[in-house]
Amino acid sequence: MIVRLEDESGRVGWGEVAPLPDFGTETVAEAEAALRNLGGVVEAASLADLPRRLVCARGSLAMALADLGAAGPDKEPLSSPVDYLPLAALLPAGRPALAQARLKSEVGFRTFKWKVGAADPADELALLDDLCAVLPSGSKLRLDANGAWDRRRAELWLERCADRPVEFVEQPVAAAARGSEDLLMGLAADHPTPLALDESLAGPDALNRWLGAGWPGVFVVKPSLLGDPAGALARLAKSAGDRVVFSSALETAVGARSALRIAFAWPGAARALGFGVWPLFQDSRFDGPASAPFVRAEDVSRIDAEAVWNALS
Ligand code: MG
Repeated sequence: MIVRLEDESGRVGWGEVAPLPDFGTETVAEAEAALRNLGGVVEAASLADLPRRLVCARGSLAMALADLGAAGPDKEPLSSPVDYLPLAALLPAGRPALAQARLKSEVGFRTFKWKVGAADPADELALLDDLCAVLPSGSKLRLDANGAWDRRRAELWLERCADRPVEFVEQPVAAAARGSEDLLMGLAADHPTPLALDESLAGPDALNRWLGAGWPGVFVVKPSLLGDPAGALARLAKSAGDRVVFSSALETAVGARSALRIAFAWPGAARALGFGVWPLFQDSRFDGPASAPFVRAEDVSRIDAEAVWNALS
């Protein structure tokens, strides 16, 4: 759902509701009901009228208000410390990852994300070395288990990863598993390869909880699901600035524009983005910038939210 705010002088700001209910967000219907309930006229204070649980409704409004503040009649170019950011190439589970890794490295990708915990466990672990051998030197490999492993399997993989070019292992064990917070903290303490939280960051309070617990690893942050992006990002920048990976919540170009602006303005290390998702929609007018090895700040500035709105209307 696209949120369009217009102020009294006719300036327009854009936001998007891109919920992932499996990821602890509200549904589109819940977000729509809450936003309609505001009655069509909103102020910055309206954010406080939305329940904290409705992270997408709150986030879309916060993004649209921020956009309104930033976008004058002649829109300011995106202010960013960098002109472009690298993207991570997505690799399929199992053996097909090898051919994809070759193709993606030929077109210039140097960070690769491989889905693990999805094929036969013994085969998969054996494939790790084949995959590392295919990658150009200096490449980084991210493994995403999507919570598929138990403690023993996670330990086995982390031992294997220790002397390989693995940037991090994402969500090795399920966020919902009993004791998963202690388990993740323990695994992070016992192994040199960094761990990343993704599903564990679902919900309005999880980020604060993990920051408070002193999580030493990486935070995979989907800006569209932060609820209160400004507050959350300030807390992250303060204590985990170099350990943040910005990632897609499968938004259209409108939500991607907000999320990528945040990534480009980020003061910490420029880690490869988890935005290699397009083409994603049947109607390509809704897609964000094509999945090249880099996204340019200029391409983000050029995203035409109004065109997406018109295509939907
Ligand atoms: Mg993930």
